[in-house]
Amino acid sequence: MSRHVIVTGASRGIGAAIAQTFIDLGDAVVGLSRAGTAPEGCAMSLAVDVSNSEAVSEAVKAAIAAHGPVDVLVANAGITRDGLAMRMSDQQWREVLATNLDGAFYCARSVLSSMIRARRGRIVFISSISPFYGVPGQANYAAAKAGMVGLARSLAREVAGRAITVNVVAPGFIDTEMTADLGATSDDMTKLIPMGHVGTTADIAGVVGFLASNSAAYLTGQVIAVDGGLAMGL
Ligand code: NDP
Repeated sequence: MSRHVIVTGASRGIGAAIAQTFIDLGDAVVGLSRAGTAPEGCAMSLAVDVSNSEAVSEAVKAAIAAHGPVDVLVANAGITRDGLAMRMSDQQWREVLATNLDGAFYCARSVLSSMIRARRGRIVFISSISPFYGVPGQANYAAAKAGMVGLARSLAREVAGRAITVNVVAPGFIDTEMTADLGATSDDMTKLIPMGHVGTTADIAGVVGFLASNSAAYLTGQVIAVDGGLAMGL
C-alpha cells in the first residue's frame, strides 16, 4: 500500500536519497525545502523554511489535503554554522537551533494529530553523532542535534500507545554538500572511522527505510548511529 511520506530537506544530499528510497517503494512523497525542489517522482514538493512555524503548518495541511494522513515524517532539514563557542555569534547559535531543532519540532507537531487519528505513524529525526562524539566548533549544532534526541524520546512515550514510533538516526561523516568543503579535516576524520571510509547518502536512507517499515514496528525511542563505527558506544 502506498504511504504518505513527508521528507524535509529533500532538495539534495541525505534528504534527496531518503525521498528516493520511498519513491522507489511506490510511496507518495512530499518533499519540503527552502528551494522547493525534490527528486523526480515526488508527489509534491513545497518551498518551506522549516524554522517558520506557520509555513510548516500550512505545508503539512496542504500535503494532508492532497495525500491524506501522514504515514511517515522524516525530519532531515539541517544546517551548520560552525565556529568556536567563544567567538560564536548569537545569529550563528540561533540559526542552527531554529532550523535543526525548532524545525524538527514544528514538523513533528504538525503531523501528530493526523497520525494519532489514524492510529499509526513513523517519525524519524535525522540528528548526528556530533553531540555524542563532541566536535570542536559545533556547540550550536551539537546542542540542536542533542535536543532532537530529547524531543524524540518524549514524543515516543507520548504516542507509543497509538502505534506511532519515533526514532533518531545519527549519521556520522557522510559525503554531501554539507561536508564537501572540509578539505584536509575530511582526511583526518576519515582516518578515525573504523570502517575506513565516509558514508554515502544511501547508507542513511536504507536505515530510515527500515525504521519506516513493518519490520521496525516494535522499535521506538532509539538512537541509531550510522557512522562506520566512528562513535560506537555513544
Ligand atoms: P545538505 O546541506 O546537503 O542538505 C540539507 C538539506 O536541508 C537541503 O535539502 C536544504 O534545502 C534543507 N534545508 C536547510 N535549511 C532548511 C530550512 N530552513 N528549511 C527547509 N529546508 C532546509 O546536508 P546533508 O544532506 O548532509 O544533511 C542532511 C541532514 O543530515 C542534516 O540534518 C544534517 O545535519 C544531518 N547530518 C549530516 C551529516 C553529514 O556528514 N553530511 C552528518 C550528520 C548529520 P534548501 O537549502 O533548499 O532549504
